[in-house]
Amino acid sequence: MAATLVAFRNDSAKAETTFSEDKVIIHELADKQLTQVKAATFVPSVLLVPLGPLSVKKLSPVLPVPSRKNLQVPFTSCADMLAHDGAQNTPLWQLAIEYERARGNFTEEEVIAKMTDIVRILRKSIASGIAGTSYEDRVLHHQSGRFAEMMKAGRLLDGGALNRIILYVTSIMEVKSSMGVIVAAPTAGACAALPGAVIAMSEEMGKDETEMAKAMLAAGLIGVFIATRWTFAAEVGGCQAEGGSAACMAAAALVTLADGTRDQAIAAASMAFQSMLGLICDPIANRVEAPCLGKNVMAASNALSCANMALAGYDPLIPLDEVIDAAKAVSERMPREHRCTSLGGLAVTPTSLEIEKRQPRSRRQSHAPAADAAAHRSR
Ligand code: SF4
Repeated sequence: MAATLVAFRNDSAKAETTFSEDKVIIHELADKQLTQVKAATFVPSVLLVPLGPLSVKKLSPVLPVPSRKNLQVPFTSCADMLAHDGAQNTPLWQLAIEYERARGNFTEEEVIAKMTDIVRILRKSIASGIAGTSYEDRVLHHQSGRFAEMMKAGRLLDGGALNRIILYVTSIMEVKSSMGVIVAAPTAGACAALPGAVIAMSEEMGKDETEMAKAMLAAGLIGVFIATRWTFAAEVGGCQAEGGSAACMAAAALVTLADGTRDQAIAAASMAFQSMLGLICDPIANRVEAPCLGKNVMAASNALSCANMALAGYDPLIPLDEVIDAAKAVSERMPREHRCTSLGGLAVTPTSLEIEKRQPRSRRQSHAPAADAAAHRSR
């Protein structure tokens, strides 16, 4: 019987000197056996030779953060993190690195390098969004280029850094709607609030990409707390799970950019999330474009406001973990029509249904959500 051994290697930096598998799965096929080995390193060649002729395929991980057996992280909630860090008041980005090092077995330099790569991807998205995007099956056209022109000409109201944030948020949303490259931070629908706010504010402040990466790491740690306790899925929690999480994460990131303290970053995150509770998901014409565009801008604006409030010592009153739990409780009472089903809110307005009918995708095929929405309206 021929055998195939598949080794999943999860860390290219490791040399093949020792080997310990996480999991071995035997797949019996008609005339073959497939042995699947999951591990942090590839199976060393010296261990394969005695097994005779094998067909070996080595697959690198899809996700950049490897999983492994007996994984332990230092904290999974904000309260845990505060207990762990105590009175040290370590900046949130450093705590994020501590988490990522435990989670992914990375060095500090590797963590910062990975996030810096992400920042570079995001900056390219922003530039391509402003330059102009097109896509047949979308309901909004390219708008951020005009905003950029008017901003440059001084023809917009003075919003300070907020105008650059609006520009960057909307340009990323346009890239997303044209199937361009974005980073779902934390989701595709809410992909723009966090990076738009961080990169625009960093440029206004003259910060480099390493500082941007640190701010994004701080945001990521807030995201860990949300994902662990609850969800980012609008189908579960409405837009408070997407846009609310994005605002919460962005607020902590902006405090980090301003060299605020750990507790100020958490306070900003709490305040920003508090203002997003109850936000429904009701995409117009069943596309993730509007009101998503405005909601991303609102999330970023809210984040900026809460970051400055936290830096000035405003009191969030409710600890972050409790705010996340409150959002979860709200979502449990939220009707399904308001949780990304296109059955409620703006999604079922006559104009939304009309726009959807005109879209290429709707013309090509029967579109169940549109039919559902029409039926729902007539009840
Ligand atoms: S409205 Fe719905 S689809 Fe749009 S960003 Fe919010 S959760 Fe995502």
